[in-house]
Amino acid sequence: MMPRILAIGGSDSSGGAGIEADIKTITMLGGHAMTAITAITAQDSQGIMAIAPTAPDLVARAIRLVAADIGLDAVKIGMIGTPDMLAAIVDALRAVAGSVPIVLDPVLASTSGTTLLDPAALGRLRDTLMPLITLVTPNRPEAAILTGLNVDTVPDIRAAGEALCRMGAGAALIKGGHFEGTHSIDHLVTPDRMIEFRMPRLATRHTHGTGCTLASAIAIGLARGLSPDDAIGQARTFLHAALLAAPGFGQGRGPLGHAA
Ligand code: PLP
Repeated sequence: MMPRILAIGGSDSSGGAGIEADIKTITMLGGHAMTAITAITAQDSQGIMAIAPTAPDLVARAIRLVAADIGLDAVKIGMIGTPDMLAAIVDALRAVAGSVPIVLDPVLASTSGTTLLDPAALGRLRDTLMPLITLVTPNRPEAAILTGLNVDTVPDIRAAGEALCRMGAGAALIKGGHFEGTHSIDHLVTPDRMIEFRMPRLATRHTHGTGCTLASAIAIGLARGLSPDDAIGQARTFLHAALLAAPGFGQGRGPLGHAA
């Protein structure tokens, strides 16, 4: 059956990241994409110029309606924005958590530096959302902010992943993609193991939306019943192809190519 994936997050007017990246990824991978949109942004490849949050009640209602009528095989969460939005999402997801994999890409700020999660929501994200999460996918700076730990060395990465699991996440994928080096290295940490995913780094400035694309691709793999290891492996292969297929649009960090 076609996997039914709900993407909760912000809309990116440039079509590179956020909900637009989620819909393209889920569609390309053969799923049915549904959305609960937390904010509308005005942005281009160079940065985010304006953000208008939507109503938390509307988002909660959208989540409940599609869960009850269409059904969910996985949920992917990206930009949340405000403490009220976080509370509404947690409330609405409690009914499905445990029966459906939930992937959280903990978007705290855009690469260009705009805040995408109010720091006042951070504590509640740890306490109330993290226990509902199957897999959380922070990059190293996000993992450092979420855990309060340094995330520089491999032992640090493992400690941060274990701390995220103690907050209630089933597993943590700590992404090293933003860092220098010949390879892009991510680490999957569970309470009892850590495994490394490694790929040669691509020389491209067109990386806008990589986090959203990876998390959505993982969600669809989990929806199909793949293990986290296999879902992450397939998602990284999809992301690599999308980076290679980037059309080169924009003056800044342009969109990926979600090509067949
Ligand atoms: N806009 C939205 C709506 C997002 O969800 C994200 C990231 O998740 C971004 C912008 C930032 O993307 P990037 O860090 O790739 O620039």
